[in-house]
Amino acid sequence: MLIGVDFGGTAVKAGLVDGGEVVRSTSTATRLDRGPTEILDAIASTVLALTPKPEAVGVAIPGEVNSEGRCWRLANVPGFEDVSIGEELSKRLSCPIAVENDATTAALGEQLYGHGRQHPSFLMVTLGTGVGGGLVIGQQLYPGSNGFAAEIGHNNVDSSADAPVCACGQRGCIEAFAGTKALLRRFAELGGTATEVLPISVSARRGEEAGKKTFEMMGRALGKGLAVIQNVLDLNAIVFSGGISASFDLIEQHIRAGLRENVFGKPPGEVPLLVSELGERAGVIGAAHLTTL
Ligand SMILES: [Zn+2]
Repeated sequence: MLIGVDFGGTAVKAGLVDGGEVVRSTSTATRLDRGPTEILDAIASTVLALTPKPEAVGVAIPGEVNSEGRCWRLANVPGFEDVSIGEELSKRLSCPIAVENDATTAALGEQLYGHGRQHPSFLMVTLGTGVGGGLVIGQQLYPGSNGFAAEIGHNNVDSSADAPVCACGQRGCIEAFAGTKALLRRFAELGGTATEVLPISVSARRGEEAGKKTFEMMGRALGKGLAVIQNVLDLNAIVFSGGISASFDLIEQHIRAGLRENVFGKPPGEVPLLVSELGERAGVIGAAHLTTL
């Protein structure tokens, strides 16, 4: 049976995976203050809690990684700059380790067991604190030559001087309109109070302006950014995942409007916009199958 690990900013989840099913799983909290050595130890012990002798392990990480398993950096986990995650875990677990970006990994899960079965070329958009992406072209996962493919969150959609500042330091990125912090900020500007996305959804579902306008901002920015992707790739589908997916019906019309307004030619603007079939499980399932690529 395959083993997949989803290493996130809040938890390390590990699962024994059979095809598209997580048969058994366990998780430990990620201690961000502990530094890479202790975090890597924690990942290894989480895997060993599932099985004492793993044959191969796939790991999804919240950052960019090259084909040798060396991490560029993890935006929300300090100290991982240039760490060879693959090599370090291989030492601890005495087996081959495959490491990949989390959104790219989720795209692999979706390719094999979700919408990818009907749609050979698609972009997976992960919506959360950050906005990430994973790309599958012609039923082939495409991580990019440096592991940076489909990092759509930092494409610019507003070049005006007063565009909101993004976590990456630039202004006007998609993430500065569609990431969780951007939504909370906009909702507050419109008179709402929220420390998470749920109250924004509740407000929008009640038909209140604050919630509706917050999601309009998000959807418009996503649509404008995705139009650029569609002009380049003319994909079969765009698949959305992350906690916000439950509110997707409130955002979809604005994404579609932004797409139609900015795309070249009508057909690529009508691309199906879908919610991930695998949801939260895409990370562990995709990670497990990294070992078979
Ligand atoms: Zn940015």
